[in-house]
Amino acid sequence: MILTARSITGVGMTSQRTRDRMADRLRDRGIVDENVLETMASVPRHLFVDEAMATRAYEDASLPIGEGQTISQPYAVARMTELLLEDGPKRRVLEVGTGSGYQSAVLSQLVDTVFTVERIKNLLNKARDRFKALEYRNVHTRYSDGSWGWASNGPFDGIIVTAAPRNVPDALYEQLAIGGRMVVPVGGKFQQQSLLLITRTAHGFEEKTLADVKFVPFLSGKS
Ligand code: SAH
Repeated sequence: MILTARSITGVGMTSQRTRDRMADRLRDRGIVDENVLETMASVPRHLFVDEAMATRAYEDASLPIGEGQTISQPYAVARMTELLLEDGPKRRVLEVGTGSGYQSAVLSQLVDTVFTVERIKNLLNKARDRFKALEYRNVHTRYSDGSWGWASNGPFDGIIVTAAPRNVPDALYEQLAIGGRMVVPVGGKFQQQSLLLITRTAHGFEEKTLADVKFVPFLSGKS
């Protein structure tokens, strides 16, 4: 990816004004964390989708990123990030499902270190190029089935899953630090999915169901 100051900042439908308007719409829809809104107004989402799609990057929609996957809708990214950070700052966060890398880029501005895993090599390579070109240096990536988490870098203060498993994998529970929180959509491909907030206390796990959501399915193995 060859980038210039101008292509990063964007023009017209990819300009700063368009990003600011997206943040305003997210605020209108109920996002209250100003740090999250400010970050979403600064990360160039148009560089996380194919060039042909760039002018649609700031619509509140999920968009195809190839391999049958999608970049999450801005509202979902904002809401999940806000939920993760609601109880205070986070140092180490694991994301399962790197996809385009957009959610990682947003998180990278708000937490100390992001660890992100992806099971589709092509997508991960493109996301890695973006992190490098845009200098998101606190994002660490791994080509792996996220069912196993990333034990050598855990436990994590926060875990965010951006594909929907039928059940939350055991490894993700195990790698959540005490006091940590996990935001995860649960439900199969053709099932109703619910966004869960799971917190780990000294005594176990607490689970809250938050909203009906629609994510691509969480799949096992690498591809
Ligand atoms: N956070 C991404 C969303 C991408 S869609 C973004 O901001 O663009 C969800 C991603 O999860 C897809 O790329 C899919 O390949 C990936 N995924 C699904 N199951 C997975 C698994 N078991 N381990 C790792 N990644 C997985």
